[in-house]
Parts: sequence; C-alpha cells; structure tokens
Amino acid sequence: MNFLSPIVHPTPENIAKAAALLQAGKLVAFPTETVYGLGADATNDKAVASIYEAKGRPQFNPLIIHVSEASDLHPFVVWNDKAEFLAGIFWPGPLTFVLPRKPDAPISLLASAGLDTLAVRCPHHPVARELILKTELPIAAPSANSSGKLSPTLAAHVAESLGDNVEMILDGGPAHVGVESTVLDLSGDVPTILRHGGVTIEDLSALIGTVRCALHDPMAPKSPGMLLSHYAPTLPLRLAATEASPSEAFLTFGDDTAAKGGAKRINLSPEGDPMEAAANLFTYLRQLDDPAFSGIAVMPITEKGLGAAINDRLRRAAGPRE
Ligand code: AMP
Ligand code: MG
Repeated sequence: MNFLSPIVHPTPENIAKAAALLQAGKLVAFPTETVYGLGADATNDKAVASIYEAKGRPQFNPLIIHVSEASDLHPFVVWNDKAEFLAGIFWPGPLTFVLPRKPDAPISLLASAGLDTLAVRCPHHPVARELILKTELPIAAPSANSSGKLSPTLAAHVAESLGDNVEMILDGGPAHVGVESTVLDLSGDVPTILRHGGVTIEDLSALIGTVRCALHDPMAPKSPGMLLSHYAPTLPLRLAATEASPSEAFLTFGDDTAAKGGAKRINLSPEGDPMEAAANLFTYLRQLDDPAFSGIAVMPITEKGLGAAINDRLRRAAGPRE
C-alpha cells in the first residue's frame, strides 16, 4: 500500500505546524471555499517547482497567489480602481484578479510561469485565512489534484490524487463552492474573464459594465494557456544546442564540460536535476536575455519529471513570434 499524506484537523497547533512547513519550503494542502488548494511559499522557486512536480503536469500553468488581505498585495502587483472596487465587494471570496506584476515583486517567476502578470486572490475560508496569516507569506496554490483529475472538494480527494507528494493535508470538510474561482483579467483595457467560476459574468458586468469573456470572444485568446505564447525572451532561442557561438549566451544543463562556446553561460542544474532546473528556468532566461548577445543557445534538457514542462515552455518560446 502506498503511504498517504497525513490528513489532520485544522486545530491551531496543526495550522501552526502547516505554516512552519510552508515556511520551510514544503507543500501543504488546505481547504478554500472553492476547492482544496496545494500551497507553497510563492517567493521560493524550489517550493513552487515542487507544486508542478506533485501535480505531474507536463506544462507550467501560472498559479494563483493567495494572501489574507488585499493590502498584502501592494509589493507584488499594480493595483487599479476596478480591482479596488471589486475587492471591496467580493473579497474575501472566489474571485481572482490578473494584474500587472511589479518588476521587483519578490514572487517566484515560475509561479507566474514567466508572465508579466500575476493572478491574486484573498480566499474566504477561515482555515485558509488563518494559515496564510500565520505563514506571513504569499501562498501559490493551484487546485490540489494531480494533472487531468477532478478538482478536490474533500481532504480525502487530495490524499487519493496526490498520495505522499504533500507534507500535510488540513481537513476543513467539504469545499462549499466546489467550483474554482473566477479568473478576471484586469491588466488590459477591457476586463476579461479567463475562467468561469464562483462569481458570474452577470454579477461582474452589473457592477463594472462591459466584461469580455476570453472563452467565447473570437477576438480574444481562447484560453489562458494561449496567452502564454506571448511570453518569450526578446532574443531568438536555439534549442538542443551542443555548443554555442562566441556571440551567443548559453543556457546549459547537467555536465556541460564538453559543450563549448558561448559569451556567457549559466547552468540550469549542474547536477542534471529537472526540479532545480525548473526552479531556475525563468530567472536564468531573463538574465541571458540581453541585447549584448546574438541569441540564446539551450543545451538538450531531459524529458524526465519537470523536464517535459521545461521543454514545452522552451519550444513555445523558440516558436514563431506573434
Ligand atoms: P488553478 O491553479 O487550478 O486554480 O488554476 C489557475 C487558473 O488561473 C488557470 O486557469 C490559470 O491559467 C489562471 N492564471 C493564473 N495566473 C494567470 C495569469 N498571470 N494570467 C492569466 N491566467 C492566469
Ligand atoms: Mg485546477
């Protein structure tokens, strides 16, 4: 029989333990009013990489950053009037805003999958709020299910889906809303729903006027995933490079002693560990994306574990530009 993660009652002692685990870079599943979330310290690249690892998803989807108060977001995102107004009505609650990320935001670039925006939300569930308050950190948390499985509305679902990939599961009983938060993009001119959820488009448009829906509007991207194709380094990327020219930056992986060349090189993981490479990917790409170089050559990266998601992202970044 497989070892399953401990499911515990959300007593003050257990919440304090869970907060300490999060502060130590571990994963904790916790109840929210929408579905159970798989939380990690959003400022810790390795902790965020372990979320993707635990979910077993072959792609980096941007994650929602959870805080206990709207004012906690000021270091992270560029706030605006619509966000202020809607937060006053719906927060804490099942509404997520996508807002421009502040350039110096101390949030893992992997948590927003390299995007220039961040998805943020204040959950209503008392256990989620207490946990985040105790942790004193922004918490990145997707739904606590493995890739392709239904979103969990019970602690037992999390244990079934994630097995021992999570350090602790706080049991808050059934999630009330049972559907995910509505994702509303407030980073452009027209507020745009990227995912339907607990707050409806009618609720929103009654309050703020025109709300576009990216899921149905042929002029808008069809899914949040499509937005990701915009995010690529400015320099051209050359994949599966076994050596680099003298003018290229070189992003290497594993033992790179035989790979010659490159004006500057950074190794994603000298040990060849895909999890470490994932944690470093977006930070290192940004460091190499410098007009002083003619392009970025990238050494072959394993398809094992998070390697598949890394290669997916690199292929998109190397693909045709819009
Ligand atoms: P889940 O993690 O299962 O709650 O899903 C999070 C949802 O929020 C996904 O649909 C993501 O694509 C979306 N999302 C998170 N961050 C962003 C962002 N910065 N821009 C657009 N969509 C986002
Ligand atoms: Mg999900």
